[in-house]
Amino acid sequence: MDSLELIVDLHRDNPRQGPGGEAEFRQALTLAGLETRTSLEVADIGCGTGSSAIALARVLNARVTAVDFLGAFLETLEQRARDAGVADRIDTLKGSMDELPFEQSAFDLIWSEGAIYNMGFARGVTYWRQFLKPRGVLGVSEITWTTQSRPQEVDSYWRAAYPEIGTASEKFAVLESAGYSPIGYFTLGEHCWLDNYYHPLRDSTAQFLQRHQYSDDAVALVREGEEEQALYERFKAFYSYGFYIARKCE
Ligand code: SAH
Repeated sequence: MDSLELIVDLHRDNPRQGPGGEAEFRQALTLAGLETRTSLEVADIGCGTGSSAIALARVLNARVTAVDFLGAFLETLEQRARDAGVADRIDTLKGSMDELPFEQSAFDLIWSEGAIYNMGFARGVTYWRQFLKPRGVLGVSEITWTTQSRPQEVDSYWRAAYPEIGTASEKFAVLESAGYSPIGYFTLGEHCWLDNYYHPLRDSTAQFLQRHQYSDDAVALVREGEEEQALYERFKAFYSYGFYIARKCE
């Protein structure tokens, strides 16, 4: 199994592949202030196994196109959508977030939780803008420094892992330069990281390691996750995911 297949195998049975939460999803959606009299066109980009895509299909009068480049995640999503009774409102699309087959101005809402870093925040919001209708809304979560300064250790770790990490005001500036008007922002609380992401992941590692007979690669992947969690627990005062809601300027 190559490293990508291992990552898929570790994550595919979990409800989330990154920090997030149901209440936070609703808070972001409220801030989006969508007009829901007519059916909405929605895209969820980097949808993983589908917690937000399914929630969007449940609460909105909408068609949701759920995009991910990993087919295994989309299969889990499709099963979960059937179980939730919303499969008829979700289309899955296997493809890359930086090469989307959509028409211009196709969507009222583009959603993306914990995924845009894969192409970079600035590149992502700039590229996706064309697919929003005029005054369409973007709801995107992105790792964010929550203070102006921080200990060297955590600064170095995240700058190496994701050089684009920044403060909320820096992200707002990116959104404004890319042609959006920011309309809401909040940070995800600790339970979104621990209860909803790191702990379910930790609980699935014993079986994962057994499945892979404690191979060096499997052990290394688990260790990487444990180190990331330990770092979070030590330095959570300095970073979180920020949820950014912004409207496309005309
Ligand atoms: N939104 C989900 C998943 C977040 S993890 C959640 O909040 O649980 C990031 C997701 O982005 C993964 O599912 C990964 O497969 C997907 N991804 C990474 N790079 C991608 C790319 N270039 N194109 C499309 N999806 C990508």
